[in-house]
Amino acid sequence: MRAGFPDFRLGSVLATSFTATLTERHGDAVERIPTPQRLVDWLAVSGLAVDSCTTAQLDLARELRESIHLAATAAAIQDALPASAVQVINDRSAEGRAAAILTPEGKRQWRLSSGSCVEDALSVIAADAISIIAGERDGRLALCASPTCQAAFFDTSQSRTRKWCEMNTCGNRQKKARFNANQRKHSRSAQ
Ligand SMILES: [Zn+2]
Repeated sequence: MRAGFPDFRLGSVLATSFTATLTERHGDAVERIPTPQRLVDWLAVSGLAVDSCTTAQLDLARELRESIHLAATAAAIQDALPASAVQVINDRSAEGRAAAILTPEGKRQWRLSSGSCVEDALSVIAADAISIIAGERDGRLALCASPTCQAAFFDTSQSRTRKWCEMNTCGNRQKKARFNANQRKHSRSAQ
């Protein structure tokens, strides 16, 4: 991790980890990949290491990110998928060259083309988003209950009743807000 930049919020689902590089979309938004190098860092910790990234590639990545966010949000509330977002996801998916590789330990890794280029990595992320939005995977797309967040996340809990994109951040904040509101109520009634 580099000093001076907001930390990443990494989950177990690639596509929604990616959309979580912008958080608090309905509050004071936090951009977690503000520079091309920060996207390189994020890709490295996400198993998609690339050699370098240009400003134009960062723009492509952010466009894909917001398109996934829009399409996943629509899917979560069973709305029609926005056509322009679908177009961007499909374009990014089709553009990259990445191969799934099975390691001797039986793990899946991604091998990007010889240039290890950002477009390859984006195609893996786009395909991951497609598999979630298409309902191919075991889980449920839902929106975070925090009013300032409302991020689309993929709920793989047994009961499918997860309310927050992340317990450590949004979940705790909501709990704290409720606790404080209760405290205020109690101190008022004590007066
Ligand atoms: Zn959230």
